[in-house]
Amino acid sequence: MKTTFSVAELKTALRCMKQFDYRWLQGLKIAPTFTQASSQGVRAGVRRAYEMVGKAEPEEIEEEAATAAEVKVAEVFASGDIRDPHGMSEDQLLCEKSRTERRTDKATRLFVEHTLPYLPSDLTPDQGWALNVPGLAEFSGEFSAIDIGYTPIATRIFYPIPDDDAELLRDPLLALDAYAAETIRQEETKEAGEIKANNCIILATVSSKTTNSAHITFSDDSIERALDRIESVVEAVNKGCFMPAPHDSWTCNNEYCGFYGMCPYGQRNRTQR
Ligand code: SF4
Repeated sequence: MKTTFSVAELKTALRCMKQFDYRWLQGLKIAPTFTQASSQGVRAGVRRAYEMVGKAEPEEIEEEAATAAEVKVAEVFASGDIRDPHGMSEDQLLCEKSRTERRTDKATRLFVEHTLPYLPSDLTPDQGWALNVPGLAEFSGEFSAIDIGYTPIATRIFYPIPDDDAELLRDPLLALDAYAAETIRQEETKEAGEIKANNCIILATVSSKTTNSAHITFSDDSIERALDRIESVVEAVNKGCFMPAPHDSWTCNNEYCGFYGMCPYGQRNRTQR
């Protein structure tokens, strides 16, 4: 029986239970694609920017963040561990590398210039959390950042900002972020009471064209639906029920699923049947 789940594990399970089995139970590791390497770079840059909020001028934050992003992408390239699902020639690979570097740099700089000024100026980056849901499991994760009022910041890389409840539908794990933040707030302020998770997420989105931030709130109904989905994933894992991703899933392709080539349920195999 599996009783502890990290957010990374849950994220995979929500996308595809089969992928969860390969990645987290069988322990198979797959190298990132160029797109995923770029996301890793932007994430490193954003993390550095959060660390520097209130401690440096915007130009310095932008430079430091861009450097952190560049270093991360260089690290991925240097490991020789990049996945090329499109079978590119050597020249094409070189072009793709430099396109990835440019895209990462641009997205990171746009984030510092256009999103960071609208976020709280008292951020603590990368705070870990743990949440015990009696009878279900213990969950753990990390906020991109949290402010002094215990509002968690969720960062999305290369993603548009949707409606409040639509975002929770797409990413039920935000409900855990919100619960964890509220639990920490009540512990630290010694305030007891029912823990409600609907009032406190700031969503910061980053892309290479436009970045944005929005304070979003969730309805009780959508939180309940999100928690139901998390519960069903935990139950499926414990029953050993590893269903493939839905037929029209965005993740079931060579770019986003590293197991595509070996998985008997890959879309390509399914359409050939
Ligand atoms: S190929 Fe599709 S079904 Fe198989 S693990 Fe990947 S996402 Fe899941």
